[in-house]
Formats: sequence, structure tokens, C-alpha cells
Amino acid sequence: MPANKKLLMLPGDGIGPEVMNQVRRVIDWMDKTRHVSFDVAEDLVGGCAYDAHGTSLTDTTLADAMGVDAVLLGAVGGPKWDNVERDLRPEAGLLKLRKEMDLFANLRPATVFPALAEASSLKTELVSGLDMLIIRELTGGVYFGTPRGIEDIGDGQKRAIDTQVYTTAEIDRVCRAAFDLARKRQSRVTSVEKANVMETGVLWREVATAAHADGYDDIELNHMYADNCAMQLVREPKQFDVIVTDNLFGDVLSDCAAMLTGSLGMLPSASLGAADESGRRKAMYEPVHGTAPDIAGEDKANPLAMIMSYAMCLRYSFDMGDDADMVEQAVETVLGSGLRTGDIMQPGMTEVSCQAMGEAVTAELDKLAG
Ligand code: NAD
Repeated sequence: MPANKKLLMLPGDGIGPEVMNQVRRVIDWMDKTRHVSFDVAEDLVGGCAYDAHGTSLTDTTLADAMGVDAVLLGAVGGPKWDNVERDLRPEAGLLKLRKEMDLFANLRPATVFPALAEASSLKTELVSGLDMLIIRELTGGVYFGTPRGIEDIGDGQKRAIDTQVYTTAEIDRVCRAAFDLARKRQSRVTSVEKANVMETGVLWREVATAAHADGYDDIELNHMYADNCAMQLVREPKQFDVIVTDNLFGDVLSDCAAMLTGSLGMLPSASLGAADESGRRKAMYEPVHGTAPDIAGEDKANPLAMIMSYAMCLRYSFDMGDDADMVEQAVETVLGSGLRTGDIMQPGMTEVSCQAMGEAVTAELDKLAG
């Protein structure tokens, strides 16, 4: 018997635990119905870890995350911790986790389910059938570059510094990941930077071009400035297949793409590291949304981004594409039946709670499996 698949759940803060509970429901369903067992451990990260341990990520939790096959993360942060010292803040724990696990490629699919095409802020015909993937470099760039800080410069003035920095190797590996993933899609990659005004953009374009020339002539590569990309995303989003870009632009552009799909509550993500000798990649799966303090504790959160993050986990960490398809199919059918959480509510549909949405997904899985 192969060893059980090891999962570490880090629900985090706010709505994190609420949406994670619905993933647990799906995992229990798979255990019972499909006889797929996971060793599931659960731990604290973010504000809840700070409250319990005085730090948003303990060394033990980090070591556990490094040892499992995949980490499922909810979301971290909230107003309660806004005044905590920067190094100890909830976000610091998440950034450290990504950095230490060396999860350099963040995959954010933006797919529009037919039942939700009208929920988009854009015209239905612009987004209906949209299926694109944004790959954001996750461990480099301005969020990690030094020097950084705020200093007094006299006369009551301060100066703030962030540093945008990229090496050849950092750009090369994320571009190659994009080309490899594009091969399983429509084989088109748009590399996005601002080579017109930024040195990192010049290097990014140069390295992307060189990586492309080294074995990827079946992939169509084009380059686009980040500001133009923002415009094109709302003008004609279906022109894109795969977008690869740096940490900062990826953060902004993927949130923009989020709105094309109707709601943050619908967007899953995967963060992958390099493959080791056995082919195993460190991996973390998390919804794009945050902790939604405005609705936390009210059983109103949309659990579908978290559930679809779990589907990505099945696909990328466990090579269980059929099971992932089944979970996504269940989500699509539930949406088609008219059930909605508040964030994606439309006239004539039925508003349900977070738990009821999770129950509806497993009920649909029952039908699909039966
Ligand atoms: P947010 O994503 O938490 O919320 C933005 C809006 O979308 C809110 O109105 C919220 O109610 C709604 N929303 C988000 N997810 C939803 C869901 N699943 N179902 C229904 N509605 C949903 O972003 P924010 O308000 O900018 O940030 C709140 C906190 O979350 C902050 O502390 C921020 O730092 C943190 N945050 C964490 C992560 C993360 O852990 N990866 C990401 C973004 C924000």
C-alpha cells in the first residue's frame, strides 16, 4: 500500500476556517465514497498563530509544511492585527511560508462558469467562456527586495524605499514553468513587464526571450507592458491564454482578472516550487481572496474558491485529474442549479450559506459518483 497522501491544513483567520470546513467535507466525502484517504493535520498561521504563540508562523508549523505533500491555506490577517509589528504580522507568516517553501510560481486561473457570466462587471459576451491562467512570480521582486524601509530625512520629512530586484535564474524558471503549462493549454504565453521604464523589465524581457528560444518554439510568446495588459484585460480578456509576470504586477493584474469572473470568492490558486528528483513539488493551495472581516463568522462566505483550490491540489500534487474534474463539475452543476452565496447572488437565484453551499457540492458529488 502506498503511504497516505499528507496534507497540512492552515485555515488561518476570518472566513479562512469557515471555507476550510467545506473542503474537509469534500475530503471526508472522498474518503468515504472513493476510498481516497489523506493524512490531514491542522495548524495555525497568521493572526491566530500570533495570538497563540506571539508569531504568525512557528518553526514547527514551517517544518511540518516542508514535510507534507501539499499545504491547504485559507487566508490570514484582519484589523485586529493591523498594529502588530511588521515582522510578526499575519502577512509575514504567509510570505515566509511561500519564501521558505520556495513556491516561485503562483497559478491563478480565471475561468468564467457559464452560470456566472452575467455576474461579471464586463459584458457577458466579453467573458463568456473565458479560460486564462495568470502565472505570478511569487518569491522575488519588490515584496522581498532590500533595502527597504522608512527613514526620517529631517524637517519633518520621511523617505520610504522599496527595491524591485530580479535575477536571471528567478525569471528563467517562472517563464519556463509558464511555457510548460501553456503546452497543456493553447500554447500562447504573454510575458508582462515594464521594460520601457524599469531595469527589471529589461532583464525580464531578455530572459523570457532567451528561455523561449531554448526549446519552446512550439509556444507563441509575445511581450506586453503591464499598463497595457491591465487595459487589455478589461477590453478583450479572451485574447489571453497564459500570462506570466512578476510578483507586483501579478498581484494587481490577477485581482483585476478576478473581477472578470464575478467574485473573489470564486478564484482558486496554486503555488508550486521546483520539482525534486522524485518529481515531487512543494505546493500550497489557497483561494485568492482574503479573510473578509466584514462577513467573518456569519456563515456567508463563498467556499467555492477554497474547494476549487483543493481541486487544483488533487490535479497538481496528486495527479488525480479525474477527481479534480469531478469536484469542478460538481461546482458547475451546483451553480447551474441556481444556488448562490451572497457575493455572487443574482436576481431569481437562491441565496445559501457557506455550509449549505458545501453540502450542495458533496450532494452533487454523490450524484456524479453514483
Ligand atoms: P478580502 O478578499 O478579504 O475581501 C474583499 C471583499 O470581498 C470583501 O467585501 C469580502 O467580504 C469579499 N469576499 C472575499 N472573499 C469572499 C468569499 N469567499 N465569499 C464572499 N465574499 C468574499 O480583501 P480585503 O478586505 O482587502 O482584506 C481583508 C483582510 O484579508 C486583510 O487583513 C488582508 O491583509 C487580508 N488578505 C489576506 C490574503 C491572504 O491571506 N492570502 C489575501 C488578501 C487579503
